[in-house]
Amino acid sequence: MPLMRIPYTSPLPSPTIIPSSASTLSGAITALADFLSGPTSRGNGKTVILSGAGISVASGLADYRGSNGTYTLNKTYRPIYFHEFCASHEARKRYWARSYLGWTNLHKSRPNKAHYAVGQLGELGAVSSVVTQNVDSFHPVAHPGLKTLELHGYLRSTVCISCRTEYNRENFQKDLSDLNPAWAAFLAEMLESGALTTENPDERRRRGLKTNPDGDVDVPGVEYGTFRYPACPACLHNPPEGTKVEQAADGAWLPSSTAGILKPAVIMFGESIPNPVKVAVEEAVDEASRILVLGSSLATYSAWRLVKRAKEQGMPVGVLNLGGVRGEEQFFADLSQDGAGGRGVRCAQPLEEALPALVERLKQGKAMPEVARSVFQPAPWA
Ligand SMILES: [Zn+2]
Repeated sequence: MPLMRIPYTSPLPSPTIIPSSASTLSGAITALADFLSGPTSRGNGKTVILSGAGISVASGLADYRGSNGTYTLNKTYRPIYFHEFCASHEARKRYWARSYLGWTNLHKSRPNKAHYAVGQLGELGAVSSVVTQNVDSFHPVAHPGLKTLELHGYLRSTVCISCRTEYNRENFQKDLSDLNPAWAAFLAEMLESGALTTENPDERRRRGLKTNPDGDVDVPGVEYGTFRYPACPACLHNPPEGTKVEQAADGAWLPSSTAGILKPAVIMFGESIPNPVKVAVEEAVDEASRILVLGSSLATYSAWRLVKRAKEQGMPVGVLNLGGVRGEEQFFADLSQDGAGGRGVRCAQPLEEALPALVERLKQGKAMPEVARSVFQPAPWA
């Protein structure tokens, strides 16, 4: 069965904090520290992290959902589906125009404290790998030494639908500028005015511009029909058998072509996750002893099923997310609200505060001499 990326849009209930002591920041850190060092019955003794859009919010990228689990941030946002992208030249013009405007903002954005803290958790031996739903590549940039699996692909490359050749997205941006000088001037003006910068969200909202997590921008009232995009260079020079690839004098892909369409190297909604990726993320879950969800409502089935898979294998589940999580009651049904976090934890603190504090807590724990950490033994004469 191919595993498809499908959005899930039902409203989600507010979380029940478990243990109840984890409702404060320091309580949450204690519970998370317990969780990461809790007893395990299987696996490598480490934790696999599953991260979502919530971890990139502090980098200036929008979350898909507001804290109550609905699409409050951008009600009109409807991501493009893979079949629409493949079938329609008009849909691709619209997609690439919006991506063109959104790229500068995304390209300038950097990982935040939460991503670096995840890397430190890896250095401390607490985390074995990271599975991310995000397409911004912040995890591999922040912690190249800790394995990251990008479940939904990445925006840093484009990929040809026909021959699967990948190309650098930054170079593609230059190609788009050359093909669309009027758009390049518009983008320059937007950047000049500060309307697209992450530092100025109020101005961006005032102008009605919205940057979405997949890296595109909504510009009300803009006509996308004039936008032009290039063909796959490999297919252009050597078209796959039975196809033709034609370009205009300026190098724009022509709709008379039957191949050579470039798409972002993300798994679009309605697109199947490649089998090697599916297998790799399942292995990352199966080899670990626990799973910790960071900044995700598990709205996509491909992410939710990984947590379900872990739970079915008896692995403790931890969730650190501001809003509700799809089906979370079944992940925590067997836990009591008092006690520590060793068997599972559900808390709702900002990641960029909680994770660096968690790293500090674990470092203090490591620094303590072994004898102080062992269980107190009463003297035999007591
Ligand atoms: Zn190609």
